This record gives sequence, C-alpha cells and structure tokens, in this order.
Amino acid sequence: MHHFSPEVDRFAAEVFAFALRRASEDLGHIELGHPLSPAELDAAAGATVTQAGLGAREALRLFTDVLEPACLSTDSQHYLAFVPAAPTEVSILADLAVSACSIYGGSWQEGSGAVWAENQALRWLADLAGLPPEAGGCFVAGGTIGNLSALVAARASAGAPPSGRRRALVVGGASHSSLATAAEVMDVDLLVAPGDRLTGAGLERVLAEEGERVFAVVATAGTTNLGLIDELRSVAEVCQRFAVWLHVDGAYGGAALAAPSVRRRFDGIEQADSFIVDPHKWLFAPFDSCALLYRDPERGRSAHSQHASYLDVLTEGADWNPSDFAIHLTRRARGLPFWFSLAAHGTAAYSEAVETCLRTVAEGAELVRGADHLELVCEPELSVLAFRRVGWSAAAYRTWSDELLRRGTAFVVPSAHASEPILRCCVVNPRTTADDLQVVFDSLA
Ligand SMILES: *Cc1c(COP(=O)(O)O)cnc(C)c1O
Repeated sequence: MHHFSPEVDRFAAEVFAFALRRASEDLGHIELGHPLSPAELDAAAGATVTQAGLGAREALRLFTDVLEPACLSTDSQHYLAFVPAAPTEVSILADLAVSACSIYGGSWQEGSGAVWAENQALRWLADLAGLPPEAGGCFVAGGTIGNLSALVAARASAGAPPSGRRRALVVGGASHSSLATAAEVMDVDLLVAPGDRLTGAGLERVLAEEGERVFAVVATAGTTNLGLIDELRSVAEVCQRFAVWLHVDGAYGGAALAAPSVRRRFDGIEQADSFIVDPHKWLFAPFDSCALLYRDPERGRSAHSQHASYLDVLTEGADWNPSDFAIHLTRRARGLPFWFSLAAHGTAAYSEAVETCLRTVAEGAELVRGADHLELVCEPELSVLAFRRVGWSAAAYRTWSDELLRRGTAFVVPSAHASEPILRCCVVNPRTTADDLQVVFDSLA
C-alpha cells in the first residue's frame, strides 16, 4: 500500500481533476444534494469493504457518483439552513496541500511552522476583539469543544467552590445547545438568565442569588437562532464586579468583528477572559475549525496540559503547544486553511465579504417587510433573517422545506421562537443574493 504505483499516479490525476472541478464550479448552479436512506446507499454502492479491495479509482468513482451527491453542498448559495459554510477557493485548495504533509499540529517541536502561521491568524482575531497582546490559544474542531475547553479552564481558575455547593455557570436564554452539553459533561449546574439577550441587569439578578458558586458567565455574540448579540458591555461590567470569568461564544457571530458597520455592537468583548469563533462558519474556511482564545493563556495551559513520561519532552519547556490549550492532544493543523486564505486575500477582503452578507440580509428584511404573506420575527442584527409565513403551522413549514430541497431550489429548515414555528435564513455566503432570498419568499406565497 505504501507505494506510489502507476495506479496511484492515475488516481492522483483523477483526484486532482475532481477537486479542481468542484472548487471551480459555479456554486449558483451546483446541486444541493439529497440525503439517501441506508437502504438506498446499500443498493447504490454495495459492499465496499472487501478482502481484496475495490481499487482506489473505483472507490473514487463511488465517492463522486454515489456518496458525495448524497451529501448536501453546504457552500451552495442556496443552502441557508442552520449555519452554512462558504470556504474560499484558496482555503479549499490549501487544505489539499495541508493534507499532503501529515503535519502533527499538537506541538511546537513537531509543527512549528504550522503553529506559527495559525498563531498569526489567532492574533488577527484577538486584535479584532481588542484582547491584550499576550492573549492566545489554539484551533479546535468546533465551537462545542471550544466552549467546553474554555469553561474547563474557567473552572480550574476559580478553584474550589464554597463547601457543599455545586459549581454553576450562567448563560442567556438563547445560548447554544453546546453549553448545556458542556454543563452535563462537567457535571455543573446551568443557570439560564431568561430572555433572548443576556443583559447586565439580568445577570446581576442571577449572581446576587447564586454568585458564590458561579465560576463562569457565557455571553453569546451572535445567537444561532436569531443572530442577536448579548449586551456585552454591561455583562462584562457585572462579571468584573463579581470577579467571574467571562467567556464569549462568538462561534457564529464573532466573524462580524471584522465588519466596521456592526463592530460597536461587540463593545465589551475586549473584557472577555476567553472567546471562540468558528472560521468554518462565517470566516470562509473549510470544516472543521474553531479559534479558541484566552486572555491569559497560562490559565488554559494549566488546565489542559497533559502530563506523562512520554510527553515531558514536549511540555516541559516554554514552547507554544496547541495541545496545551484545549481538550485534545493529536491535532490536525486545522487553522492553516484559514490562515492561507487570510494571508492570500488580506483582512480587507474579509471585512468586505462579511459586510456583503450583512447587506444581503438587510435587503432580505426589506423584501419580507414588503410581502403580505411574511413577517419578521425581529430586525436582523447580524446575518440571520428570522421570519414567519403568516398562518402556517409547524407541519406546513416542514412539508414546504422538504419539497424545496427535493426540487433543489434551496435548503431552509423551520425553527422555533417563543414556542412558535419560524423560518430562518442564515447568510454566511457572500455569493447569496437578495434574489436568492426572493426565490425562497416566493415559494412561500
Ligand atoms: C455553531 C455554534 C456552536 C457550536 O459550534 P460547532 O462548531 O458546531 O461545534 C456554539 N455556539 C454558537 C453560538 C454556535 O452558533
């Protein structure tokens, strides 16, 4: 197997041709894809893991003809559900180059060049947030691991709880589901301050009652459902007064720090003790990549460094080892495709691309206001457009959503707000236009 045979040579040409075709395709016309059932995939692909092997080219044929079409194209400009993806062409192709090199991204000794470049990308994010020069961290797989890792560091930093009390963290009513998961995994209580937006006043009420057992407050900078930003300034002020760790979850919305038109809504984020943003969401990088930053990286390191005789050679020195800052050890250099794109295009192009998405959603909101059959759930603050089809039930939304995907028109799924079904379009793809949104709105008439 470990041999560059003529068969592998032909395989290489086909892989590169496929990747080039996919990366250069007009994403306006790309197939959205369709989920298939296990039985349909069994029928289409048959037994694939066999004693003799299928050969690489046959495996590639199965991938291009059967498997990949059964995966949705999250980078299609018509994919508007959940939080889509819009990796730049450079970041996708750079990912191929990174994959070719077997880089171990966990330690400085093994991956110094990659880690150095990743740290430059982290520095740009830290500067956008206004974190101090010593801030730093690493890239992890996603916001879920980023949030958990930051909160584990927060708990370690807080020390022992008052005797007999369970530790707790505070989140806003619209915080991401990964925070409930983090609380479960950490076996701590989750205190939810009610409302769509965490405010200093709301937080103060919770801390006045429960303050001494609270080790962290999580503010969300861009809620997943409606795209709202918590009141970071007042929340940060209360956290300082109560001497509680402030973590800012910007997995989706943190990208908008790069957009001058909305930057002031993030004021207060510079007080965060930790902060995450997912480049695989709105910073145009491929899956999977979450930037995790600590105001004081030593707190991350002392919580997360793994110690063992076989690791001491790496961890005893002062080297910057990404493995020291989160719940992981072996690590793909998953910040490198993001760095490539940032280095290639420059930060101004990033600001402009985020602004483009904001403008598209503002135009979309205007279209909703002008349509009798639609109404806004709230004014969009970032790039989530949340709206209702007047008079429709949850079941009607689901039927419509399935049909829209079946026809390959767009991918939009129902959500809910205040116990009512709603629709949301999340635009993180600069190729998505107001005309694309209009097509969705028209299909609801
Ligand atoms: C998406 C999201 C997460 C989780 O990130 P993953 O990368 O999917 O693990 C956490 N918080 C917010 C606000 C999100 O939008």
